[in-house]
Amino acid sequence: MKISCIHTSTLKAPLKTPFITSLRRVDALEDLVVIIECDNGLVGYGEGAPTPVITGETMGSMVAAIEYIKPHIIGKEIEDFESILNLIHRLIVKNTTAKSALEIALYDLKAKAAEQPLYQMLGGTQTHFRTDITISMGTIDKMIADSLDAVSLGYETLKIKIGDDPKKDIERVKAIHNALDKNIKLRLDANQGWTAKESVALLHTLEKQDIIAEFIEQPVKADDIEGLKYIKERVKTPLLADESIFSVKDARRLLEFEAIDYVNIKLAKTAGITQALKLADLSAEFGAKCMIGCMLEGPISVAAGVHVASAKADTITMLDLDSVALLSEHPVKTDILFNESEIVLSDTIGIGVSL
Ligand SMILES: [Mg+2]
Repeated sequence: MKISCIHTSTLKAPLKTPFITSLRRVDALEDLVVIIECDNGLVGYGEGAPTPVITGETMGSMVAAIEYIKPHIIGKEIEDFESILNLIHRLIVKNTTAKSALEIALYDLKAKAAEQPLYQMLGGTQTHFRTDITISMGTIDKMIADSLDAVSLGYETLKIKIGDDPKKDIERVKAIHNALDKNIKLRLDANQGWTAKESVALLHTLEKQDIIAEFIEQPVKADDIEGLKYIKERVKTPLLADESIFSVKDARRLLEFEAIDYVNIKLAKTAGITQALKLADLSAEFGAKCMIGCMLEGPISVAAGVHVASAKADTITMLDLDSVALLSEHPVKTDILFNESEIVLSDTIGIGVSL
């Protein structure tokens, strides 16, 4: 089963409401889709969202990376799966989202050739999942209204985007906490917006009022490992690293240094499924729980993340795969159920999503 053709296309969809974090604002989804065809007619689909502020990639750079890799893998046999993946990662460093899109399409093909859903091919059995939903950063009133809407749609966990101003952030979290039923869990994501000292002061203020979030995500700059450790040693709220961890090596350094509690795995950072699985295994060795997250991306790559969550269900116990729920139109065909907080994998072979 030979790779005969690789092409790319874009996937566009409007969002229900703008996505706002301390790093950026997004008004519509615009992803790159990778389509790999084989000589027996099987087609694999992959996808990635250019996120310049996190991975350094743009739509143009992703297309260029795939065009660069393409001639090296056309003509290869899918049966030589490992060597194709190794080649992709050897040919070009970084470009993690472009490589992830290629890997997702290759895993889709491999699972289709094996006539299995991807999660089963990866050893997973869990099919039912619950995701949180992101509450974009904004005024307190808007954030409360969005939080109440989310709860009315059945979400039990909210991920609150903060990080532009520690004082305002405390008020936001307190106001949302007070407006909600106490069984609703809050995850806080500051997207690198605070210093270590600000983080400790802010979390202590919340903790004194018995507001202990499920975790605080990436409060300080991605490379501020000392800062993460400083925070972890001083607060009760568990600390989750996102932008600080792309690779298994990054995670090992942070976990050995005891700088974090949890790991946020995203395929767009790990350069695909292979390293995401390894990252979950490494976290398990350290007893660190993982969340699987996504960029603002569409159903193909989000589905790939759900398959990974199933494959490593013992370690990946938290899902932040809400970006399909944020779309106001569904631009693909899928048998996977994406119903707000509820995601259910189907027994369709491969990833289960196609154009
Ligand atoms: Mg994050």
